[in-house]
Formats: sequence, structure tokens, C-alpha cells
Amino acid sequence: MICLGIEATAHTFGIGICDDKGNVLANERDMYKPKTGWGIIPMDAGKHHLEVAPKILEQALKTAKLTMDDINLISYSRGPGLPPCLYKGKDFAIETAKKYKKPLVGVNHCVSHIEIGRQTTGLKNPVVVYVSGANTQIISFSEGKYRIFGECMDIGVGNALDKFGRAMGLDFPQAPEIEQIALKGKWVDLPYVVKGMDLSFSGILTSCIQKREKGESLENLCYSIQETFFSMLTEVTERALAHLGKSEVLLTGGVAANKRLQQMLKTMAKERGGKFEVVPRDLSGDQGAMIAWNGIIAYKSEQKMNPDKADVDSRWRTDDVEISWIS
Ligand code: AMP
Ligand code: MG
Repeated sequence: MICLGIEATAHTFGIGICDDKGNVLANERDMYKPKTGWGIIPMDAGKHHLEVAPKILEQALKTAKLTMDDINLISYSRGPGLPPCLYKGKDFAIETAKKYKKPLVGVNHCVSHIEIGRQTTGLKNPVVVYVSGANTQIISFSEGKYRIFGECMDIGVGNALDKFGRAMGLDFPQAPEIEQIALKGKWVDLPYVVKGMDLSFSGILTSCIQKREKGESLENLCYSIQETFFSMLTEVTERALAHLGKSEVLLTGGVAANKRLQQMLKTMAKERGGKFEVVPRDLSGDQGAMIAWNGIIAYKSEQKMNPDKADVDSRWRTDDVEISWIS
């Protein structure tokens, strides 16, 4: 079985193609970039997705050396995400499914980040650290669902880093540049906000901006914001491992590309006698391959959809999804 997966929850419009062994045959994408000094403008991002969709489809089929005749299934990100983006992805998925008479399945974007991580690392039942632009969740599977053991109470860790970078005049996506600048920085005190198992990043972001206005160096602030955010994540992850009696940690989502975060979680997992794995770099951020792979496992477990009833759910939580493929 070969599935074509369509991703359009936020900045990225992506089309990936996977087979049912989990091989990624193509993973093409194009990212909407806001003007310098701006965050994402959802309507503009949606417009971008509509414009690039046919070209990305063509590229994906070319890379996979396939035609639409070879595709057995189409999947799309049903949510969560920005509605103007989600609708463009869904409409393109319906149009393609109807045109080529293919079955359609809508999948949860956050669960797709987890499933591509489990597939590529081989971890079966880990505590998942899912860190992306808008989402930050510490997750583990229990009784039919991916349960959330801790999450951000305001903005996601990727967005918090990007917003700090934007305030410092860096270009989007700012977090990878912060990672580089941080290498030259030293520690300065910042607030540290863990409430039970939940995390709050926005006050720390404000504190960093205020410290910069008072003359603190950019290098020191980049270093310290990362140390603080990632220590908070590591603390909550360790507590989840301890409470659940689990030993494996899977890091996934766009922020998983960060070497310092990887190092901290790895050290913690090793000290507990456990295992740490991270999703490959090219599958960490938003892309269509993870949607295609999730489409295959969902479809094989009987999750099907009537294209005329296909919809989106911009607030679809990870812990609301029926995980019918894990028993
Ligand atoms: P996603 O929403 O999963 O596509 O992830 C995108 C987020 O990952 C954005 O906020 C990026 O700035 C962030 N990101 C990408 N690379 C890195 C990195 N090296 N360190 C930290 N965050 C990153
Ligand atoms: Mg994502």
C-alpha cells in the first residue's frame, strides 16, 4: 500500500509519500515565510498553500518515480492547526481523492509527529517529548489513547524561541539561529516556571526581552533561554518516566532538531538507565511523510472517511484521538 499525505496546519505545505513498511518515497514541502518582523498571518499562509499545492504534488510524484495510479490512499492533516491553512489542505485532499478515486483519511497532526518518531526510532512505548512551534506536550500511550502528562499552558516552546528571536531582529525561523548564538553565551538568571507537570514559557520570554533592553548580551540570553526552557522540559519528562515506570524517551517535533535539548534529555535518560532516541532531522518539523505514514496505519485499522464528509478540527487534541492501531 502506498499513501500520499498532505500537511497544511501552519507555515508548511507538504506532500509526502510512504509505503506500508514505513519507507519514505518522497517528502516535498514549501514553507510560507512571513515578512521580517511579523509572525504568521494565517490567511496569507492559506493563500500560499493553495498556490504551491499543484507544484508540490507534481514534485512528490516525480521524486517517488510514481504516478497517481500507484497511490492507494490519500491522507491529510485534519487538525490541530490554523483554520485557513487546514481548510486549504483538506480541500486539496478531497479534490485529489475524488479526481483520482482514492480513499481518504484525516489524521491528527500531533499524533503523526509521534508515529513517525516511533516508526523511525523503533521505540515501542516511550514517553514522548513532542516539541514544535505551537505544541509542547509530554505524552505516553495508555488504554487506547496518547495521554498528555504535561503541556504548555501558554505558547509552545518553538513559538516562544521564535518570538524571542523576532524581538531580537532575527529572521524566521529564529530558533535554529538562537541555537547557534547560544554556543557563545553564558548563564544569566531567568524565571523558571513549572506548575506541577505543566510548563509556562511566555513570562520567561518577557523577562528575556526586558533584560536585553537593559543591556544584557544577546549571546547570554540565547544561551540562558535555551537552558531554562530545556531544563523545564527535562524535569517534567523525568517525572513522567518515574511515575509511569517507563524507561524510553522519544523526542519529536520541529524543536527536536536542537542539539542541546537532545543532549539534556539523553543525559537524563541514561542516568536513569533508560534509552533516548530522536526523530531524524528531515522528519522532525512539519512535513507530509508523517501524515502519509499515519494515514497508512489509521486506514489499516479501519479508519476510513467519506470524502463528502471530510472536515477539519483546529483544536483536535492529541488525547482525543482514538489510537485504534495500538492494542
Ligand atoms: P514544527 O511546528 O513541528 O514544524 O516545528 C517548527 C518549530 O521548530 C519552529 O518554532 C522552529 O523555530 C523550531 N525549530 C527548528 N529547528 C530548531 C532548532 N534547531 N532548535 C530549536 N527549535 C527549532
Ligand atoms: Mg508540527
